[in-house]
Amino acid sequence: MRFELDVMRATPGRLFRLRGAVPVAEVDWRGEPVKLEGPVAVEARASYQNDQVFLNIRVRARAHRACSRCLRDVVEPVEFGGDMDVFPEDAEGKYLELGPFVEAAVRLGMSTKPLCRRDCRGICPECGADLNLEQHKSGCTHGTKGDPRLKKLKVLLEHRSGQA
Ligand SMILES: [Zn+2]
Ligand SMILES: [Zn+2]
Repeated sequence: MRFELDVMRATPGRLFRLRGAVPVAEVDWRGEPVKLEGPVAVEARASYQNDQVFLNIRVRARAHRACSRCLRDVVEPVEFGGDMDVFPEDAEGKYLELGPFVEAAVRLGMSTKPLCRRDCRGICPECGADLNLEQHKSGCTHGTKGDPRLKKLKVLLEHRSGQA
């Protein structure tokens, strides 16, 4: 998917639109490849004015992530819409290829801490139990003894959630 820059340069200020599905197998997320499921749905608008390209892009995708608390596989719905910076050298050629902008927009739409579900209880850092499925292993002191100040806070929180 790309905008034809010479057509845009010929009509400064005119808004051009593109819409379609762009196949992107994976995007780089902080050095790690994240696989996408199916193509990325893209809507892009661009105009050319004063030697600059103004680009606005909206993407929808589905990304394969790992839950940040329990590491379970999650398919995260990704959505982002916004203005993108187009460098002057990108505005000089015959075409503005949207691939890199689509990938950048998908990255911007991904959450920093994906969750398999909002109340995921995660994995105990001490005994390794998956707290969504099981209790702490016997002998695990995490969440039982612990810091007395934290225990007090926990009682307080439980009291408050009891009232709600
Ligand atoms: Zn989880
Ligand atoms: Zn534990």
